[in-house]
Amino acid sequence: MEVVIDVEKEKQEILKRYRGLLRACKRTRDDHDKKLIRKALTVAINAHKEMRRKSGEPYIYHPIEVARIVADEIGLGTTSVVCALLHDTVEDTYITLDDINRMFGDKVMKIVDGLTKISSIADPDDSKYSLQAENFRRILLTLSDDIRVILIKLADRLHNMRTMEFMPRHKQLKIAYETLNIYAPLAHRLGLYAIKTELEDLGLRYTEPELYLSIEENLASTQKKRTRYINKFSLPIINVLTDKGFNFDIKGRTKSIFSIAQKMKKKEVNFDEVYDIFAIRIILNSKPEDEKTDCWKVYSNVTDLYTPRPDRLRDWISTPKGNGYESLHTTVMGLDGKWVEVQIRTARMDSIAEKGLAAHWKYKSMTAEQETHLDTWISKITKMLEAPENDALEFIDDFKLNFFADEIHVFTPAGDIKTLPKGATTLDFAYEIHSRVGDQCIGAKVNHKLVPLSQELQSGEQIEIITSKKQTPKEEWLNFVVTAKAKSAIKDALKEEHKKTAFDGKEIFKEWMQVINEPINTNILGVMVKHFDLKSTFDFYLKIALKEITLEEFNNFFRQKEDKKNLEKLKRHKSKTDKIGMLNIGSEGNIKYTIATCCNPIPGDEVFGFQTDDQGILIHKTNCPNAMHLLSNFAGKSIKAQWTNTNNVAFLTGVEFVGIDDVGLVNKITSVISKEAGVNIKSIFFNSEDSFFEGKIMLYVTDTEQLKSLIEKLKQINGVHKVNRLMEVAA
Ligand code: MN
Repeated sequence: MEVVIDVEKEKQEILKRYRGLLRACKRTRDDHDKKLIRKALTVAINAHKEMRRKSGEPYIYHPIEVARIVADEIGLGTTSVVCALLHDTVEDTYITLDDINRMFGDKVMKIVDGLTKISSIADPDDSKYSLQAENFRRILLTLSDDIRVILIKLADRLHNMRTMEFMPRHKQLKIAYETLNIYAPLAHRLGLYAIKTELEDLGLRYTEPELYLSIEENLASTQKKRTRYINKFSLPIINVLTDKGFNFDIKGRTKSIFSIAQKMKKKEVNFDEVYDIFAIRIILNSKPEDEKTDCWKVYSNVTDLYTPRPDRLRDWISTPKGNGYESLHTTVMGLDGKWVEVQIRTARMDSIAEKGLAAHWKYKSMTAEQETHLDTWISKITKMLEAPENDALEFIDDFKLNFFADEIHVFTPAGDIKTLPKGATTLDFAYEIHSRVGDQCIGAKVNHKLVPLSQELQSGEQIEIITSKKQTPKEEWLNFVVTAKAKSAIKDALKEEHKKTAFDGKEIFKEWMQVINEPINTNILGVMVKHFDLKSTFDFYLKIALKEITLEEFNNFFRQKEDKKNLEKLKRHKSKTDKIGMLNIGSEGNIKYTIATCCNPIPGDEVFGFQTDDQGILIHKTNCPNAMHLLSNFAGKSIKAQWTNTNNVAFLTGVEFVGIDDVGLVNKITSVISKEAGVNIKSIFFNSEDSFFEGKIMLYVTDTEQLKSLIEKLKQINGVHKVNRLMEVAA
């Protein structure tokens, strides 16, 4: 395919997008700001000049769009827009941080630096890293002194997710899982609910396209019916509430595709069976003092009209959820025998529900003492987001993301205040005072009461440390200190102690080696250190002295030397797959693989290979429940895989049934199956209770097509209500 690039047209498009960006920067009306944005755009255009995205489009569209999201959908000001325009320049082009500093100053440089660092850690191409989601989130948070780094990163991710169509499939999967795993929860935490929902929906679209599309289609085809129903259902409520003089809004709210999918999976139901695709929301404009009473009055009116389901009343007004959510939910019997959820809340509660705790500050007086750090922090962000002047952004530099970690404040006997992270113990407190106090600590008095070293402290407590000169730091202390200061002090002290112990271990090791007549050299030591999963020979000697490595384990090691050779072979297999880049399942070759039993893929399923330490390469479905974990944390061990030449091979799979029991049903089912060419039954399991029956059949099929057609035929049988493919197939 020849691609004709129309330079003139592209220039027009860049200009169009740039104008769109300026329109989105509602707050930057002054010329200085416009000039800055223009300058950043020029720098970015030149830097990305020859670059194109996977779609073939000029690369510069991406930073412009990210900047637009930053201004329009997150509501940030000029500095952030400038940084968004420049966000990929240092990473991908000749531009250096010094250049940025010279042209745009220190602040922009620091934010761009933060963004560059995050992407070099999180680069989906770099398979060396296998980051745990939690780890990544922590890095993200500690890396950025400036919250704008994270907000811009979210905009970057959102645009990448929106334009992921042309990426290779394995990258789409990796990025989508990472988004579901890390970015969506982060957006959630920051109260960016619209962005969170879009990230989740896009994530699902790429990880489970079939499910996504089927829900989308179902939603579209039922839209008109739903609207009619909502109107009919709401009318009597509108009439009665208006009569009684309430000032309110009422609307129907459809769930997001992602949450519908969650529901279907959790409850194991079809789209039609998700009864709460939509909810009715009544939002009251109440005086602060009438909020609770008004909500209950409306509840009473609604349940006069429609019968409530007693087990479905949720009162989050009297006891709000942990994240601040307040609302009164009831499920009532609507028209046509359908259960309908009705959510009753005030405008203030609605604002919190939509924007998260961020909405708090609007209503809470900022002097409230019990306000937590997170509240304060989010309040500040929101305030910044809603402040029209740019210099309102300045204050954000004053605080760090440390606010994420809750803190406690405790007192010394003299009344001095000490700040410690939440979860800190009396021993942390001792080390906070002085490392020698920590080393010699034998106990403590909290509010004059004797407590152990591991006692977790609470804000406001007064602590007196008891020391003894005979005390020395113990290994197990590391289990209950949380501050870096205490940890490093204990480790330093232990190191000295360990030196003596390790020397003893070395002597024991020498004896063992003598007995089996093996020479000691650095080679064998290196192999053993690796074998016992240790960092150094020092640790190895230490473990021997502490009897954590026993003589038996030592002997086993030499017995297992043979097995080692096999492992080497396995590694060679892996390097072969690396070269090919694609594992062909079913074709002749010397790469060994096994079908994973957690998801049992069959030809036709989208799959990937995963290199395990002990079982060789396992083939999983890309929508296997384990895939999310594997692909987002150990992408480097995943191998692209496809089905080839599997026509004559049968694969084990299974189907489950639910239905109404009927004599001869088992016969009908098995006869339908055996009539299908090439399908063999491996095992059958049926169970019936009263008139309800369920069953499982394990069978061999050639591919998904065959399985689908079989399931269709089984559904036709009288008495069978539901037929599903089994995810897990017990052999
Ligand atoms: Mn980018």
